[in-house]
Amino acid sequence: MRTARSRRAENTGFTCGWCHAEVPANTDGHYRNHCPYCLWSLHVDDLPGDRASECRQLMEPVGLVEKSGKGWQVVHRCTACGHRQPNRLVRDGEAPDDLDLVLHLPWL
Ligand SMILES: [Zn+2]
Ligand SMILES: [Zn+2]
Repeated sequence: MRTARSRRAENTGFTCGWCHAEVPANTDGHYRNHCPYCLWSLHVDDLPGDRASECRQLMEPVGLVEKSGKGWQVVHRCTACGHRQPNRLVRDGEAPDDLDLVLHLPWL
């Protein structure tokens, strides 16, 4: 059965479109938008968290940026349309982002 839910509340597990890992929902109170095991993402947002994009193609992790107040963010680039989007790293809770992979990304 489908239930209506607000987009904001959408914090569910998913299967990674790149490495096919089963990704658990975030447990640190934020909403997860990329795979913690390979860092790939899906182009689903026009603005972070809005789920408004119809692109839905894979987004590659291309580098890191540091934003004041937000800490490190991984920059994703859509393999289909080239849209770039910084996303917060998941450092706490269940299945945090793979720090080895994060540290191998170039600073942008
Ligand atoms: Zn993955
Ligand atoms: Zn795209």
